[in-house]
Amino acid sequence: MESAKQYVEAGRVAVQLADAIRRLGYPARAHIDGNYQVIAPLVARDAGLGEIGRMGLLMTPRQGPRVRLGVVTTSLALIPDRRISNEAVIDFCTICKKCAQNCPSRSIPFGPREEIDGAVRWRINPENCFHYWNVIGTDCGICMTVCPYSHPDSRPHNFLRMGIARSGFIRRAALVADDLFYGKKPPPRNAPDWTQVP
Ligand code: SF4
Ligand code: SF4
Repeated sequence: MESAKQYVEAGRVAVQLADAIRRLGYPARAHIDGNYQVIAPLVARDAGLGEIGRMGLLMTPRQGPRVRLGVVTTSLALIPDRRISNEAVIDFCTICKKCAQNCPSRSIPFGPREEIDGAVRWRINPENCFHYWNVIGTDCGICMTVCPYSHPDSRPHNFLRMGIARSGFIRRAALVADDLFYGKKPPPRNAPDWTQVP
């Protein structure tokens, strides 16, 4: 539900921004869920928002894979930001592999990044993943749930995120702690009451 809500929110912002640019007299197109003509995570990575993680999604140092993207393309002349790569996120995904270990359809690679369409990154097997969704009759998202970057926005977790961004030793220690506190194969959480059919 939250994921769908944030797709809508990203779409709302992108559509309004594209409209504002068109009102200035420049062509602009909003790329939103179900209507992308760009690979949004790659655009977001080039824009300096994060890195492509093992599960093929954009990973930001603060929210991990829990971001949903809208993109606006335009011919309006803009001053580009300088992209700063985030090696800590890449290093963490290289040693972690928790999403790959927990993926029920084995769609997430265990190996190193590869060059795909001119960008070095991980890419999941989307057919396998989507086939699994069809088999179980709903979206899955286990990869996002088990990702150590997906823990709540609390003070201890944010303190750890700061350490993860700065030290390779803390990244390795955090991974051990994650397995200890949450388990190597975290059990599925109970669905909230409001989702239960009476
Ligand atoms: S679970 Fe681990 S390997 Fe997978 S995306 Fe998250 S940090 Fe990276
Ligand atoms: S959504 Fe589920 S099946 Fe698809 S990659 Fe993630 S864990 Fe695997």
